[in-house]
Amino acid sequence: MKNISVIGSGTMGNGIAHLFAQRGFEVALVDLSPDQLNKGMATIAKNMDRQIAKGTLSEADKDASLHRITPYTSLADGVQKADLVVEAATEKIEIKLDLFRQLDLLAPATAVLASNTSSISITQIAAVTQRPGQVIGMHFMNPVPVMKLVEVIRGYATSEETTKHIMVLSSQLEKVPVEVQDYPGFVANRILMPMINEAIYTLYEGVAGVSEIDTVMKLGMAHPMGPLQLADFIGLDVCLSILRVLHEGFGNPKYSPCPLLINMVAAGFKGVKSGEGFYCYPTGTKEYPVSPRFLS
Ligand code: NAD
Repeated sequence: MKNISVIGSGTMGNGIAHLFAQRGFEVALVDLSPDQLNKGMATIAKNMDRQIAKGTLSEADKDASLHRITPYTSLADGVQKADLVVEAATEKIEIKLDLFRQLDLLAPATAVLASNTSSISITQIAAVTQRPGQVIGMHFMNPVPVMKLVEVIRGYATSEETTKHIMVLSSQLEKVPVEVQDYPGFVANRILMPMINEAIYTLYEGVAGVSEIDTVMKLGMAHPMGPLQLADFIGLDVCLSILRVLHEGFGNPKYSPCPLLINMVAAGFKGVKSGEGFYCYPTGTKEYPVSPRFLS
């Protein structure tokens, strides 16, 4: 695999494009929105500057990596040479299904189509294409250039050959791939989201405050970040939609999202991306006092 097309240049898409370009692949970065595409390219350059400051990347490697990324607003142009497409568009099922129908028509017949979805069924996505054996989940973690894990999700019809290709490719990217089967939440979010939901219930029921809950989990369980802060970083809207997928997929009330989470998302308090969640982010993520709504 040499030519990689990344669909979506948001938080994950620009990180995935950054990673592939730095490892020497030719990358086409596609987004519907020219504005998002510019922001994505600017974020990649800024994150590479951080690597230079840390001494993990040279100026010459930064220039060469950026040269390997070509931005596109047209899906047809962006995927015409793809050996692999990694879709990292908005987490909405209708968007993913529509995209995969188009990708199936536009990308070369030999191309593997991967999705970075956090929770949507790979089997369902694959079923709208004529190549379900070549559709797979490639779930990177945020921030992509830093986090080691790739959860490789094998849909019901994903072939052995496609799975092997993606496992080997992930290792070439110096990541650690873990193969999992396609059931709601896969492994990462099936375990993480109930913990985050329980932390929100603990707050909602008045058992403890925001910083107390996060401190217990950081100092008691050696988690680098408390669950409420992590929820703010992931996005409370994203957490809610993943919990809904788990709840619906398993039909088990243990996954039902906490009413406090539902209210916060309905009111537009989505965490870092909206400036306030359980914490406030007046200056990005440098300082984050607990939201006054949770101080009594
Ligand atoms: P985001 O909202 O930051 O970016 C999504 C981008 O997709 C936007 O730039 C939007 O313009 C673009 N887009 C939407 N529809 C499109 C289309 N039809 N064609 C091209 N571009 C389109 O979202 P994100 O946080 O980067 O998440 C992307 C995917 O990665 C989702 O499936 C999400 O579940 C998954 N994911 C997110 C995280 C995380 O921590 N944010 C972690 C792992 C996986």
